[in-house]
Amino acid sequence: MVRSRVGSAIHMKWKLVRGEEARPKYVVCNADESEPGTFKDRVIMEELPHLVVEGIALGAFVVGAEKGIIYIRHEYGRAKAALEAELDRARLAGLLGSGVLGSDFNLEIEIFVSPGGYILGEETALLEALEDRRGEPRNKPPFPGQVGLRGRPTLMNNVETLALVPGILRHGVSWWESAGRDGHSGLKFISVSGHVERPGVYEIPTGTTVAELIELAGGVSGDRALKAFAPGGASSNFLPAEHADVPIDFATIEERGSMMGSGALVVVAEGTPLLPLAANIVRFFRNESCGKCVPCRLGTQKATEMIEATIESGAPLDWSVIRKLNLLLGETSICGLGYVALNPLISVAEHWPGEVPGCSAEAPE
Ligand code: SF4
Repeated sequence: MVRSRVGSAIHMKWKLVRGEEARPKYVVCNADESEPGTFKDRVIMEELPHLVVEGIALGAFVVGAEKGIIYIRHEYGRAKAALEAELDRARLAGLLGSGVLGSDFNLEIEIFVSPGGYILGEETALLEALEDRRGEPRNKPPFPGQVGLRGRPTLMNNVETLALVPGILRHGVSWWESAGRDGHSGLKFISVSGHVERPGVYEIPTGTTVAELIELAGGVSGDRALKAFAPGGASSNFLPAEHADVPIDFATIEERGSMMGSGALVVVAEGTPLLPLAANIVRFFRNESCGKCVPCRLGTQKATEMIEATIESGAPLDWSVIRKLNLLLGETSICGLGYVALNPLISVAEHWPGEVPGCSAEAPE
């Protein structure tokens, strides 16, 4: 049985906040889902809001927090309404407020609507926005578990993580571990988009292969063959079709050279040029860079200009510059946006060098 690395990380986070003495403590549900191709948290909030509220309450109980905050993306009106209705029901049932179910445990949960921006999904930028400051990531350490919202210990998890907590508590760890397939542990919600017949959110046993998930989603649209896929949203490296046998699991996807990222499978059919797709992604990260780190702010702009010039004129892309920019962003960025901004482009050049003028198979290394 492959124990979930994510499960261990979540355990460490909860343990850290639980061990802190400072009061008050907070639980923040990060519902600011903004990665292109990623919409699983929206669907969970719309369809299963009770699990989200219950997960926050359980997290608060475990770590000793009295205040929960759902930090939600501003376009998610339907999800917000579903959560508000669920919070009202929980208050009526005595599951929120002072003296929950006659105990000495107090808990209030409120919804905070994000002012908008991809970077606000980064946990420390999110905290800055909650404190009415410009949403830029903080240097870490200290981590939010020790010095979080208003300087207090703060447990922060995303929607999916919190929604899974009630089921694991109810059915037990053995149930959770046996829910995966072929030695992998647990279940996973994945947003499937791109060239499939039935895009949507699928809950699958971890260890399901990418090819099987594409079949679940009705197969590649228009009876075309699979060309490529991004297994973890826009920030993950594209992989060629021959990797579709990869089991969906954090470690196995990393071994193939990509990542699970935000839990979003983006499917690309044969016949689709990949350079414009990679250019779109780099442009997105250029637009969403908060500008705090100069290399990220200027580097993503420079890379965007270079790719756009290549697409427009067919002139070779200068890989020595792209390589240097990628190294620089990896070494100097404060947050994940800078680390991943050029990854999709690099992966296209690595696997499909013939689609990138000026690129040889060796160029991206
Ligand atoms: S890496 Fe980019 S997005 Fe992240 S803090 Fe620096 S400038 Fe902002």
